[in-house]
Amino acid sequence: MNNTDIVGLHKQFVMSTYAPSMPLVRGKGARVWDADGREYLDFLAGIAVCGVGHCHPAVTKAIRQQAAKLVHVSNLYYNENQPQLAQKLVQLAGLEGGKVFFCNSGAEANEALIKLARLWGHDAGRYEVITMRNSFHGRTLATLTATGQDKVQKGFEPLPTGFAYAEFNNLESVRAAITDKTAAILTEAVQGEGGILPATPEFMQGLRKLCDEKNLLLLCDEVQCGIGRTGAWFGFQNYGVAPDAFSLAKGLGNGYPIGAAVAGAKLANLFQPGHHASTFGGTPLACAAALATLEATAAEGCLENAKQMGELFIGLLQKVAKKYKFIQVVRGKGLMVGMVCDRPCKDLEVLLRERGLIALTTNNVIMRFLPPLNVTAGQVRKAARIVKDACAAWQAKLAAAPQA
Ligand SMILES: *Cc1c(COP(=O)(O)O)cnc(C)c1O
Repeated sequence: MNNTDIVGLHKQFVMSTYAPSMPLVRGKGARVWDADGREYLDFLAGIAVCGVGHCHPAVTKAIRQQAAKLVHVSNLYYNENQPQLAQKLVQLAGLEGGKVFFCNSGAEANEALIKLARLWGHDAGRYEVITMRNSFHGRTLATLTATGQDKVQKGFEPLPTGFAYAEFNNLESVRAAITDKTAAILTEAVQGEGGILPATPEFMQGLRKLCDEKNLLLLCDEVQCGIGRTGAWFGFQNYGVAPDAFSLAKGLGNGYPIGAAVAGAKLANLFQPGHHASTFGGTPLACAAALATLEATAAEGCLENAKQMGELFIGLLQKVAKKYKFIQVVRGKGLMVGMVCDRPCKDLEVLLRERGLIALTTNNVIMRFLPPLNVTAGQVRKAARIVKDACAAWQAKLAAAPQA
């Protein structure tokens, strides 16, 4: 099938929850190809999913071998990969006495955090979770309610109760949202969908202090900023802060679907048989993919590379930003990079794509870049050249249509 065939069939039979750009049929490292053979430099990596690059040989091998051995048995039986992966995650997080619940997506991992918080606060009549404006936590009814953005909630009312909102990076607003019903505070260390906005150290450290002071749980959504993306295994580690539990998904299986809720000692033994479940959670196959992903991430020095390549890319983009008034600021942490524009930047996204670079607009005015963590300096320089070229084209386009 060529590009046109795939698009036609998709439009007829697949619900329009997304507006996809072009069909992609093959990938290798930071490169992908469409059905007509055109090559792209992928600075989105499946939205922070393929951290060690597309079709990483070690991950592909692990999936192949496990697929031929045992795919799924349900959680009514032990499997050899699940506890090894759990141990690895607890160790990487440095959560003494920690334990893991496995599921299949970010929303599901956050649901587990919310259920843990409710169970923990239940006997004291505490169930409320405070989340941040402009956050993103998923699309299930509870997690879209946790998401502090009206646009994901509109049309799906009545929403579940038990959520309150505060301003990200504003400790006083969080303090003001606490009631005698509050059980937990949930935040990203770097807001992803909200616009690649890192928390300030004062905010993250202040939240930890506030939670200790008021006996509340600190929960971190690491679905986007976890697994090396910010140059640390987990985003909160950049702040020297440990949450009581955190969620993972996107980067954990390098594209093989897997989610996890990792809890420290306070919550590790709260769930008992019957409290929570997921048929597909932590299958031998999913855990094999995740174990191989973590191993490749460490073996290839992806954390250090994310830090260095992030700095290089931000530096190069800041040079471009100086030349164009429509770029307000370039910001990020590690290889979560955002270029904040003074207007909607979907046109720029298209101009980038036409020049062979994949990136994604978020929160309407922010061009978001999430390349694989093992991206090379050559690829970063090439991407920056494409951004420069696309900005020149956008400038020309805006000058030709001044009313826009
Ligand atoms: C993508 C994302 C989610 C939702 O993950 P799904 O796998 O799509 O359910 C939750 N939180 C954050 C921070 C995300 O970026």
